[in-house]
Amino acid sequence: MIIVLKQNSVEADKLALVNYLTEHHIAYHLVPQQHIVVITKESNIDNLSEFACIERTYQINTPYKLASKIWKESTSFNIGSNSIGNGIFNIMAGPCSVENEDQIFSTAEFLSKLGVKILRGGAYKPRTSPYSFRGLGKAGLQLLRKAADKYNMGVVTEILDYSLLDEVMEYADVLQVGSRNMHNFYLLDQLGKINKPVLLKRGFQGKTVEWLLAAEYILSGGNAQVILCERGIRSFDPSSRNILDLGIVPLIKELSHLPIIVDPSHGTGNALRVKPASLAAAAIGADGILVEVHPNPPKALSDSEQALSFEEFEKLLTETQNLLKALGKQADTESIPLKTESL
Ligand code: PEP
Ligand code: MN
Repeated sequence: MIIVLKQNSVEADKLALVNYLTEHHIAYHLVPQQHIVVITKESNIDNLSEFACIERTYQINTPYKLASKIWKESTSFNIGSNSIGNGIFNIMAGPCSVENEDQIFSTAEFLSKLGVKILRGGAYKPRTSPYSFRGLGKAGLQLLRKAADKYNMGVVTEILDYSLLDEVMEYADVLQVGSRNMHNFYLLDQLGKINKPVLLKRGFQGKTVEWLLAAEYILSGGNAQVILCERGIRSFDPSSRNILDLGIVPLIKELSHLPIIVDPSHGTGNALRVKPASLAAAAIGADGILVEVHPNPPKALSDSEQALSFEEFEKLLTETQNLLKALGKQADTESIPLKTESL
């Protein structure tokens, strides 16, 4: 159950409610910074109507409560001067890893000319092999921020470990939790305490309920700004890097109020399949996409097979915008004239 308290409720009334719950051995969680009490184990509670501080109660029988659609229709919030979850399709793009000044500045310049407002780039990279390129670290964050500022863009980058939280907070507008960290509950707890959006990727073996419970960790800490990102799951079939589970988009829309975007790059693992997967994500009702783009894909230091060239990305953008238009929707990149015009 969720108990939403009145915004202007006085401390004494809240205390009376909390004391009542404690006396009746009812397990609860007060959400910091929000006027919400989560009853963590479902029970019928008598006499709640007597508490003046209560605005509304919602019976929620799923293990996740704050992530549930039962109490909230949709969530939208700002990312810098942009916003997400308001029906506009967000297109976030950039290289897998920040590699050098030239690479990130040329990518930011190109993307911003097309109207892209959020620049992605990894500075601390989770790599399967410790001998692979693992990112430039702090220098990468600084380059990313400088490039984004020059072209008036927001920054999304991965937070690999809670010990890096202060550092990443200094440079990022959105903190990405990678697929390998969806179950890192201590990190999720820390992200519940910040006041910046968190892009929570689905673990590559994450069940829907586990993913929503990972989101619940952040929400229950008081941070309501969570974006879910489907990025593909492991399967028996080695012919593609991952299986992009697009069916989860409408499922999440049924279950949760949180915005959900799709990562067609990791989801398919191959540049040829990124555009069709992006179009499918737009058609199935996602709130946006997160796409890997590189000025010279064959030379990319990470995920080169799935990186789009500038030309390929521009084509993807044009076709996605055209598709959205046909669906009566709009991308956040629009109002910027594009060169290519094919569907
Ligand atoms: C990435 O976005 O570059 C990344 C490492 O993603 P994932 O966590 O989905 O593998
Ligand atoms: Mn990548």
